[in-house]
Amino acid sequence: MSVAYEATLEFAKSLDQQDKIAHYREQFHIPKDKGGNNWIYMCGNSLGLQPKSTKEYINQELEDWANFGVEGHFEAKNPWMPYHEFLTESMAKVVGAKPIEVVTMNTLTTNLHLLMVSFYQPTKTKFKILIESDAFPSDRYAVESQLRFHGFSPKEGLVEWKPRPGEDLLRMEDLETILKEQGDEIALLLIGGVNYYTGQSLDIKKIAELGHAKNCMVGIDLAHGVGNIKPELHNSGVDFAAWCTYKYLNSGPGSLGGLFVHEKHANDKSLKKFSGWWSHNKTTRFNMRQELDVMPGAEGYQLSNPPILSMAAIKASLDMFNEVGMDALREKSEELTGYFEYLLNTIESDAIKIITPSNPKERGCQLSIQVKNADKGLHEKLTANHIITDWREPDVIRCAPIPLYNSFEDVYKMVGKLKELV
Ligand SMILES: *Cc1c(COP(=O)(O)O)cnc(C)c1O
Repeated sequence: MSVAYEATLEFAKSLDQQDKIAHYREQFHIPKDKGGNNWIYMCGNSLGLQPKSTKEYINQELEDWANFGVEGHFEAKNPWMPYHEFLTESMAKVVGAKPIEVVTMNTLTTNLHLLMVSFYQPTKTKFKILIESDAFPSDRYAVESQLRFHGFSPKEGLVEWKPRPGEDLLRMEDLETILKEQGDEIALLLIGGVNYYTGQSLDIKKIAELGHAKNCMVGIDLAHGVGNIKPELHNSGVDFAAWCTYKYLNSGPGSLGGLFVHEKHANDKSLKKFSGWWSHNKTTRFNMRQELDVMPGAEGYQLSNPPILSMAAIKASLDMFNEVGMDALREKSEELTGYFEYLLNTIESDAIKIITPSNPKERGCQLSIQVKNADKGLHEKLTANHIITDWREPDVIRCAPIPLYNSFEDVYKMVGKLKELV
């Protein structure tokens, strides 16, 4: 934006008028208060809002199930047998991958475990796993249980990349130091592409280069990156990634996750893998033979026939993402979060502090507001005013203005209320 920002409602509205993708807001159900006013929903980083089209997509499958029973696998408008394939191309575009590298299946933590079967194959001397010190708890539990499963204690096997004392964000130099000192003992790096707590977006290409230089496998948790930033997974060179779709991808509570395995591993038969009938070559799967013929690429990681109703919701969302495109989305997102940051900085109070990086390249849309004395009451007051954010222990309010459905007016009103409350 070339014009200087102004902290007025008129200015916020003028930004909405210039917004080329503003009309997508109409395509979502925005929760309302009793008086019929829209909530200010800034929590799409936790659960994205429902696209109005989702019901139609799911109804289509319910109808086809009613009308065709088992024949729906072939006769449905979108036949269930290959249904996951209808998602692959759009999902690949969203994360910057090739179709062979991506599949939609299971949930995030399950996928992390299945990926670690392949990409965490420790030896006696090279067995450690490196994570961020404030990694999402599920990732930490998953990694610790993998260590134990292979006979190592988390105490000896878990290496943490920490912010420096008095700082909130991670520094790449510190990762370099850890790898220089312990790289020969580290088997795997599993890092959040966008940190769930601070909102910091890391240079995953750089992380891949540093890890690979020490012969470590590199995996990325993209739960907070997918549909938010443009991770360019293929070009980054990371070995694998996994994400959920209910946050920025608006696919509904507990919906299926996505998985990426880099093309360089697509045909590697030496990688250990857990298998099921959906891992098998789809042209001969129903011959029910005894020998497994694993599909190349990400599809070979599937175990089971997938839940179509959840996939229908993902399809509704991905069709929208495909139509808008990540470029347009990201362009608005930088603008919206930039304006949000500008407004927050007009609050003259030391009760709150933004800990997310101010460089747009080092963040997605989320801003994490650290609250002095861990005053959770501030978050509760926002919620009471139908301004939906989330509180993360110990002391952060996470706010994510979502480019698909939040407006500049939303962020203006949110900051107005916050100003009143602090
Ligand atoms: C949301 C989130 C999860 C949740 O995992 P599920 O298996 O989908 O319940 C895990 N890790 C990170 C980093 C997340 O942000």
